[in-house]
Amino acid sequence: GAFALTGCSSERGGGTDSGSGDEAKGFAADATIGVALPDKTSENWVLAGQLFTDGLKKAGFKADVQYAPASNTVAEQQNQIQAMVTGGAKVIIIGAKDGKQLATQVEAARDAGVTVIAYDRLIENTEAVDYYVAFDNFKVGQLQGQALLDGLAERAGHEAPYNIELFSGSPDDANSAVFFNGAMDVLQPKIDDGTLNVVSGQTEIAQTATEGWKAENAQRRMDSILTSTYSSETLDGVLSPNDTLARAIITSVQQAGKPVPVVTGQDSEVESVKSIMEGIQYSTINKDTTLLVEQSIKMVGQLQKGEEVDVNDTEQYDNGVKVVPAYLLDPIIVTKENAAEAYANVPSLLEIVKSYQ
Ligand code: BGC
Repeated sequence: GAFALTGCSSERGGGTDSGSGDEAKGFAADATIGVALPDKTSENWVLAGQLFTDGLKKAGFKADVQYAPASNTVAEQQNQIQAMVTGGAKVIIIGAKDGKQLATQVEAARDAGVTVIAYDRLIENTEAVDYYVAFDNFKVGQLQGQALLDGLAERAGHEAPYNIELFSGSPDDANSAVFFNGAMDVLQPKIDDGTLNVVSGQTEIAQTATEGWKAENAQRRMDSILTSTYSSETLDGVLSPNDTLARAIITSVQQAGKPVPVVTGQDSEVESVKSIMEGIQYSTINKDTTLLVEQSIKMVGQLQKGEEVDVNDTEQYDNGVKVVPAYLLDPIIVTKENAAEAYANVPSLLEIVKSYQ
């Protein structure tokens, strides 16, 4: 490696790199850490920015936290990352807007000796991503699929077969396929054995996608499926990949004057937690952003000291050219029934839950 090591801390913790001989061993304890987040498509992204700004400062670093704006997002995020490299950031944590379009920027970062951590969303088709920190996305999907089955048994008011529809997230987000594949891991056997009937016939991920994770796109697709397919059939359940889209789907059904089906979600957004407690939305997922940001900052601390970085998965996240070493956290399914327990460590949500009990 030809990296210029800066700061007295570079001498500490020597010999703990992975043996590639190509890793910088530590950097100054007050170094700048870049955080490039996508546009604010859900509450988790809003919260992450705050938590990174506060947490990095508290850990002694200078924080450079940027969001890609809702318009021209990809180009802006590319510019922001490039500016962080030029500005001397030692680590850049990236929540990608489009994980397939950052290779040039993260390769420039690597060439400047910067460590790149993909946050929540994988960065694809490049060697230059060092670590991935996220909730276990495949498990998120499996939990959603199982919640849909449980919700149907509980609420559909009749025996199988159940009529369902499937939604997935934005095609530019690597997570979208993982969520969907996790859900289909549970649902496909039930489609095959006739328990579930996707009446529209739209079961391919491309048919179910929600461009930009935008509520209006999910609402429009639900409107159109209700019109084309459910004039006489009853819709029993909908797989929704997150809360923003779940509420859009529920709005569509309500506006069509139809009974609300079992709808899944993710992110534990305030409005969805309320909806669950009111018995409308069926489920969400608790992916506590505080824990994810803490884990990321812990990685930064380990890198700063030149220590080995904690990872707990070195198999799942193949980005097309390498398997990215990952630290995966455990997502938790939340329904009305277990909400108090599920949010035991999330005071703001626990308070909402308690106000309904
Ligand atoms: C995150 C989800 C979120 C979605 C839309 C995904 O990458 O993992 O938690 O719902 O982005 O913001």
